[in-house]
Amino acid sequence: MPKLSLVVPCYNEQEALRPFMLELSRVTSGLGDVETEVILVDDGSSDETLRVIRELAGEYEMVRYLSFSRNFGKESAMLAGFAASRGDYVAVMDADLQDPPALLPDMLKAVREEGYDCAGSRRTTRKGEPPIRSFFARMFYRFINMISHTQLVDGARDYKLLSRKAVDALLAMPEYNRFSKGLYEWIGFRTKWFEYQNVERVAGETKWSFWKLFKYSLEGIVAFTTMPLALASLLGMICMLVALVIIVSLSVRQMMWHSSVDGWTSMVCIIVLLSGLQLFCVGIIGQYISKMYLEIKRRPHYIVAESSDEK
Ligand code: UDP
Ligand code: MG
Repeated sequence: MPKLSLVVPCYNEQEALRPFMLELSRVTSGLGDVETEVILVDDGSSDETLRVIRELAGEYEMVRYLSFSRNFGKESAMLAGFAASRGDYVAVMDADLQDPPALLPDMLKAVREEGYDCAGSRRTTRKGEPPIRSFFARMFYRFINMISHTQLVDGARDYKLLSRKAVDALLAMPEYNRFSKGLYEWIGFRTKWFEYQNVERVAGETKWSFWKLFKYSLEGIVAFTTMPLALASLLGMICMLVALVIIVSLSVRQMMWHSSVDGWTSMVCIIVLLSGLQLFCVGIIGQYISKMYLEIKRRPHYIVAESSDEK
């Protein structure tokens, strides 16, 4: 019998988990000849999530779980779930029912019967989200698609169903800075998109503050393109050319007309401008160096403190 693994990263989801499992088991019981396992990955929650997960593992036979020693972030939680999955098909979904389990049968059909390796989901609306956040999200997608070869799909959720082949391709990428939206695109394969309206989470709050999202988008840019590095050198070159023109014209003016330079203000402006520019470029380079530093250390992506498999 083919097997479907459902990977669910959970961080402080104590209220959402029960309604989620209820809905999920309703959907999976209608899947027919497919065996299902659910892998709940507790991402170092500080509330009672782990206790709820242990209870659920006792109640539902299909539940397996992992628990991290601290919060490692959703990317690590998904990776751990993938690594632990044994299914021929693997799906990832949020624990808050924002990724409707009702789409699962169709997504499974696309990968099982229609020859796709990946079934992805897209939100068509960003209803219920602060307008300012939607605005920046849209800007981010436009910007990263402009400067990177890997094209991201606006509104694509992490809610996905993959074939074993695609999962193994993802697992084969050991990089430390994981930006899975980009990784999914990078591995290629044929993807069928499913669209749905945004739904608000059943319980609890979003774990993404604006600042966290901002850092995540920077990560995406740095992980998927080295264009900013090239941009820095280009900017530097343009500045040098402009400076050369200024130097020549000022020298000529001084030699021909002996007019002393009374442009102290402009001088200060130029110095400030250039040093700002230099800092900007050094900053970009620093970003990449810091990423390299983390990659070189080869630290594990996560540490498992407890797992249902050990028992
Ligand atoms: N999550 C996680 N680790 C984190 C943050 C979030 O495992 O550090 C999980 C969270 O429990 C949820 C999913 O990632 O299942 C998406 O989080 P959330 O619903 O807060 O994000 P949003 O839907 O608002 O983008
Ligand atoms: Mg959510």
